[in-house]
Amino acid sequence: MIGAGLGGLCLVQGLRRAGISVAVYERDSAAGVRRQGYRLHIDRRGRDALSVTLPPRLFALVAAIAGRPAANVNGFDPELRSTGVFTLDGPAPSADGGIMPAHTIIDRQVLRRILLSGLDDVVHYGHRCVGYDSDADAVTARFADGSIARGSVLVAADGVGSVIRAQRLPHARIADSRTRLIYGRVPLTSELRCALPPAMFSVFNSVVAQDRRFLGIAPVQYREAPHTASARLAPELVLEPIEDTLAVMFGRRLDRLGLTDRELRAASGRELCELVLEQTSGWHPLVTRIVEGWTPATVYPIAVRSSVPIPPWPTSNVTLLGDAIHAMSPAAGAGANIALRDAAALTAALTEVVAGRPLLDAIRDYEQTMIDEGFRMVRLSAANGTRTLGADPLPI
Ligand SMILES: Cc1cc2nc3c(=O)[nH]c(=O)nc-3n(C[C@H](O)[C@H](O)[C@H](O)COP(=O)(O)OP(=O)(O)OC[C@H]3O[C@@H](n4cnc5c(N)ncnc54)[C@H](O)[C@@H]3O)c2cc1C
Repeated sequence: MIGAGLGGLCLVQGLRRAGISVAVYERDSAAGVRRQGYRLHIDRRGRDALSVTLPPRLFALVAAIAGRPAANVNGFDPELRSTGVFTLDGPAPSADGGIMPAHTIIDRQVLRRILLSGLDDVVHYGHRCVGYDSDADAVTARFADGSIARGSVLVAADGVGSVIRAQRLPHARIADSRTRLIYGRVPLTSELRCALPPAMFSVFNSVVAQDRRFLGIAPVQYREAPHTASARLAPELVLEPIEDTLAVMFGRRLDRLGLTDRELRAASGRELCELVLEQTSGWHPLVTRIVEGWTPATVYPIAVRSSVPIPPWPTSNVTLLGDAIHAMSPAAGAGANIALRDAAALTAALTEVVAGRPLLDAIRDYEQTMIDEGFRMVRLSAANGTRTLGADPLPI
């Protein structure tokens, strides 16, 4: 497998739990060397996938840590007047025995650390894949340092810039939505906690101006401190103490920001804070206070890109999951949940192969649902981005 992101690691955990041999090759030199975001909303799809792939004690750890906000998405105008409350879907049967609700929040790095737990012998860092060769019986992945790895199936879990997708499905395109996010963390101090309206302790809050300037505010509060929960439930995994925060992102079309991509990337965290303060000038004082609270070192820009859906393709022993095939705008908060769902579905398919099912039949069934569900969410996320931020629609 190529790529030790959320989807890839979930698949590795699932395959290990099923007793299937696997190796994963990651281009980063180590876990945590790259900024990858601050917060994930795990919905029932992500939860159910984690519950069937992780060893039970690691799933219990996720359930113990993950925050349980009100299952609402709140809309506000720049004066922080409510423009509506969207209630996320309610209780439904779960695969986890009921220990984790359908909507939880977790820090992304904490989840990745948990997903990496116990995988030291199968995750190979510093391996940038540059392509592969395949025949009917095996696939050989090639790496930038000249090394190779051979196996019976190659899984592309290498994210939106996937080199495997570029070779396997060269007609699959990535579209730039022309919107940019500026994303950072605000410490959730007791003063700020008191200043926030109680409704804001929900899954997500969208402050949207008429001209589609957007500020997303999402509390990341732990149910139990990750370091004490891991000491209790999985002592071999040492998690650092971590404070509650607000994950805060400003979004706007690039052509309205007044900066080029190059200038955005070159700007310091402090300069990005100042840009957002300018962009939200005249908004409610609490908004200003939140943006002023950004820890500058955590603030960075993100270009919002999306896969362009393609028709199904002939099945082979090279398959894909997550952002490698259906990257989507974060506007529906679904990409990681779908990547985790893919991982659980591919685990189930490969488990059937071990029990005697022909490999290509199992991969074909996996890909059919993965394509339907993945591209459905790509379209829905893109439509949300167009409605909320004026993002370019998908070019189809
Ligand atoms: C601001 C923001 C907020 C988001 N919030 C949410 C949310 O709340 N809920 C949600 O469900 N989703 C959310 N998402 C989407 C989510 O982050 C992604 O969909 C998810 O990370 C995809 O997981 P993945 O494993 O497919 O890819 P990734 O997590 O991108 O992992 C890919 C891995 O492959 C490695 N790699 C890449 N190329 C190579 C190569 N050539 N060789 C070897 N390794 C390689 C990378 O280093 C990386 O480790 C958000 C996204 C953004 C930008």
